[in-house]
Amino acid sequence: MEIVQYPHPTLRHTSKPLRRVDAALRDMVAEMFRLMYQAQGVGLAANQVDLPYRLFVANLGGERGPDEELVFINPVISHRRGSDEAEEGCLSLPELYAPVRRPATITVNAYNLDGREFQGELDGLLARVVQHETDHLDGVLFIDRLSETAAMDVRDAVDQFEARFADRRAAGGVPDDGQIALRLAQIEAEYC
Ligand code: ZN
Repeated sequence: MEIVQYPHPTLRHTSKPLRRVDAALRDMVAEMFRLMYQAQGVGLAANQVDLPYRLFVANLGGERGPDEELVFINPVISHRRGSDEAEEGCLSLPELYAPVRRPATITVNAYNLDGREFQGELDGLLARVVQHETDHLDGVLFIDRLSETAAMDVRDAVDQFEARFADRRAAGGVPDDGQIALRLAQIEAEYC
């Protein structure tokens, strides 16, 4: 498992709700936390590790371990209120940062790894992270939500990501779109 970078096609995949949580999926979540910590991120969505599951992991605290680790399965956001702008980055677009305006307060419903539903009324950084990661599950990236000015500021950097990805693909480092779609469909058939 590795974190894929923009414009990998799985980052544009809309994931379907998970219908099954098993030991293999729990292992996968543990591996996602490991990768997230290694990359010093605070959130990581399954699309970012080339998987079609509708789930993401997050940890905003400095501590590692189950007490601080949040897993959101099939998250649904409602009751968006207010508006707030802050700088965001993304492990799939390393070292690119830009201001993003989002609702300041949200309600989220999701399931945890035990299959229990939970609800949270969130604000601050956690509200932002949950919105950023839920966007990933719909194939949306933070660079899609920039103001015109901010989009212009990051255009060169985004172009460079696209050029590097094209080079990697030309060198045989990334499967073609058809192979990626087939693999995602096979996994979905089992879990969604
Ligand atoms: Zn991201």
